[in-house]
Amino acid sequence: MTDTAGNPVSATALPMTVPLPGLPDRIRIHEVGARDGLQNEKTVVPTEVKARFIRRLAEAGLTTIEATSFVRPEWVPQLADAEQLFPLLGEIADVGDVELPVLVPNERGLDRALALGVRRIAVFGSATETFAARNLNRTVDGSLAMFEPVVARAKADGVGVRGYLSMCFGDPWEGAVPVAQVVRVARALMDLGCDELSLGDTIGVATPGHVVALLAALDEAGVPTASIGVHFHDTYGQALSNTLAALQRGVTTVDASAGGLGGCPYAKSATGNLATEDLVWMLDGLGVATGVDLGALTATSVWMAEQLGRPSPSRTVRALSHKE
Ligand code: MG
Repeated sequence: MTDTAGNPVSATALPMTVPLPGLPDRIRIHEVGARDGLQNEKTVVPTEVKARFIRRLAEAGLTTIEATSFVRPEWVPQLADAEQLFPLLGEIADVGDVELPVLVPNERGLDRALALGVRRIAVFGSATETFAARNLNRTVDGSLAMFEPVVARAKADGVGVRGYLSMCFGDPWEGAVPVAQVVRVARALMDLGCDELSLGDTIGVATPGHVVALLAALDEAGVPTASIGVHFHDTYGQALSNTLAALQRGVTTVDASAGGLGGCPYAKSATGNLATEDLVWMLDGLGVATGVDLGALTATSVWMAEQLGRPSPSRTVRALSHKE
């Protein structure tokens, strides 16, 4: 089997579909490569390349593509071009029903986002005090107080709000993070008015039983599973097992990063964010619809890896693009 250029390609370009009982028919992938992924890449990517990347992600069938971040430009130089990028994304509307949420840490960031016509934002909370201090220079409760007017103003404007919650399963400075501690902050973010919560395994230490225990505790605390997204990192090779456990528990929103972009900022490891291709391979095999064309997505990640000058850490991208 060869591609159009005569290079051999994998004989198994798609998995055989064999459903597993107890899974949703369809899930929504929240694609984070352009924001969470690039934010952690050292090579600064030109604005036009980012716009092309996002357009290709949309063409591959992704419908929620986190585009950038409205933090102070000096904090995250990679994403300092939000004002230049956003006008280039107007064309994405041609591709279909695509949402382009952005990260907004405070009211200043919200003003910038609203001025560009953003309709969906995310705030970035922490389940632990150490990460809140290091990432936001605030206590956990201080950061919630900072988000309060952001969420209130966004909701008043009809703008959707996702609440990220980092370090839900472990923290590099504090170690294990008690489930009750995560539930308290999760509940507080929902009480502020967030309509979606993304549970972040920021250092990738979660295992499936821990995932199910946290989802059960959140359900008991009145945080509905329907409003939860999961954000796993593959640092220890657990991201897909954790995802499957979450899907079996009723979760239908999964965060992933095209090509596994992003590395891991808290561990010197090649793998960070769950690669969207690895996720889509599993879901195609399970017959769970995502709307994503795995071939088009893989080609996009191969192209992006060339822009960054390093190979994609995604196993699926490597397998599908391998040439003898
Ligand atoms: Mg991440």
